Amino acid sequence: MSISQGNLPAFLSEQRHGHLIDGRMVPAQQGDWVDSFSPADGRLIAQLARGREADVDLAVRAARRAFEGPWSRFTPAQRQKLLIRVHDVIEQHFDEIVTIESLDMGAPLTRLRGARNGLLQSILYFASQAHHAGGQTIPNSLAGRFTTMTIKAPVGVVGGIIPWNGPLFSQWGVIGAALATGCTAVIKPAEDASLTVLRTAQLLLEAGVPEGVINVVTGLGSEAGAALARHPDVNRLSFTGSTGTGREIIKASAVNMKRLQLELGGKSPDIIFADADLDRAVPGAGMGVFGNSGQVCFAGTRIFVERKIQEAFVERLAAFGRSLKVGHPLQEDVILGPLISQRQLERVQGFVQQGSREGAQLVSGGERLGGDLAQGYYLEPTVFSEVHNSMAIAQEEIFGPVASVISFDTPEQALALANQTEFGLGGAVWTSNIKTAMNMVHGIQAGTVWVNCYGAIDPAVGFGGVKNSGYGWKGGTTHIDGFLYQKAVVINTD
Ligand code: NAP
Ligand code: MG
Repeated sequence: MSISQGNLPAFLSEQRHGHLIDGRMVPAQQGDWVDSFSPADGRLIAQLARGREADVDLAVRAARRAFEGPWSRFTPAQRQKLLIRVHDVIEQHFDEIVTIESLDMGAPLTRLRGARNGLLQSILYFASQAHHAGGQTIPNSLAGRFTTMTIKAPVGVVGGIIPWNGPLFSQWGVIGAALATGCTAVIKPAEDASLTVLRTAQLLLEAGVPEGVINVVTGLGSEAGAALARHPDVNRLSFTGSTGTGREIIKASAVNMKRLQLELGGKSPDIIFADADLDRAVPGAGMGVFGNSGQVCFAGTRIFVERKIQEAFVERLAAFGRSLKVGHPLQEDVILGPLISQRQLERVQGFVQQGSREGAQLVSGGERLGGDLAQGYYLEPTVFSEVHNSMAIAQEEIFGPVASVISFDTPEQALALANQTEFGLGGAVWTSNIKTAMNMVHGIQAGTVWVNCYGAIDPAVGFGGVKNSGYGWKGGTTHIDGFLYQKAVVINTD
């Protein structure tokens, strides 16, 4: 191991972490705790306050007070400057934060370090959006002399429920947009990976974000998460998670007509034509499905390959999978870390068994790693060929490093198969023919289509889903607009 316990951030030596409400770490009202483990070796690394209705209510009240307090008088320029200070503090603490993330949720440290520029740029992007809240002056046809315009105002208190597969990034969709627009927030991280969010919230205070503007309540989804979703004083909720929970959120939001942004599951198609540059398509599609050990909402898990190159492609994809070093996330040369939990590992292994049972051919991988890694939840990158689109491994979100290769003969067939899914988050096409590429771009029913690449996302562009992958857009000015409401102003100037 390259990093000894002695080198770990001081934050990780604290045994218990309270909620962060109104600028202070506080225990749960009922005083109980949830255990938090590292997926790297199954070890208990901390205990988190177990938030329930009363804790969420305390945090929402703090956020409401902050929304109506001095924070409401921050000018766009002040909010922009604050976000730049936040950027600087996060930059200074970057190594600390990614080490926490790596141990808490299992993403390889080397990969997280490589995301440094992307993360910092996204904070700067939010800083640039502090001046975005402008309306329009609109010519009207009213009888008389009227001047009509729109102005925009922050929606108020925003709830953010985020999953465990990448809190380092996903938390900024709430934090960055709230700070840019003048909203306040209560964030409920996943019980399996809350530490990055708690540490980030502390650093926000250090950067000068006023108390109560960003609050964090930890605990279980069914308790703290559900309480936040139904709280009558939360004006908007950004939810990232599974489609099933997304449906619950929609129901809970009815209590006060919360505005919703739902980033849900996916089963994204990655279409490889025979004229593609396979030297790029193989690693591109490979990392598209194996990256973050497959725990990516837009992972390209259904790989459609033109039949004439199917055999060669499968062979190369399997070799690529075998070449990826799976291991302890803090080890320098590791490309893939563990799955988040024993439960998730068993779920993924269940899909691997079901794939074989249903007649798909297991070409490589599928085994849990033992030896030094036996205490963690490590699974080999797995490739199935001879998959039919109707099999469970081709229809259900596995959220593990499992590729399902399906062959096709014509572009029309590829498109029909690609769209035979309940989801619509991402999709990709690999080809050297621009006509083929554009036909796929227009035909794939998804929020993002990548051409000759996979998974690149820019904060100024963002992404979102259609069908059961949810609605609302994360990133770009559309995202910022979601934190604002529009007001029409009609002035009689007769
Ligand atoms: P999940 O069970 O839906 O959990 C997501 C979040 O919701 C967690 O913070 C969870 O807290 C909380 N939660 C659970 N039940 C809740 C309830 N009844 N009310 C309110 N909140 C509740 O999802 P997961 O299985 O942990 O995460 C993986 C899923 O997230 C996959 O389906 C993946 O596709 C999706 N995802 C989507 C995107 C995207 O941008 N589209 C990005 C990442 C992940 P606890 O964990 O503490 O229970
Ligand atoms: Mg954990």
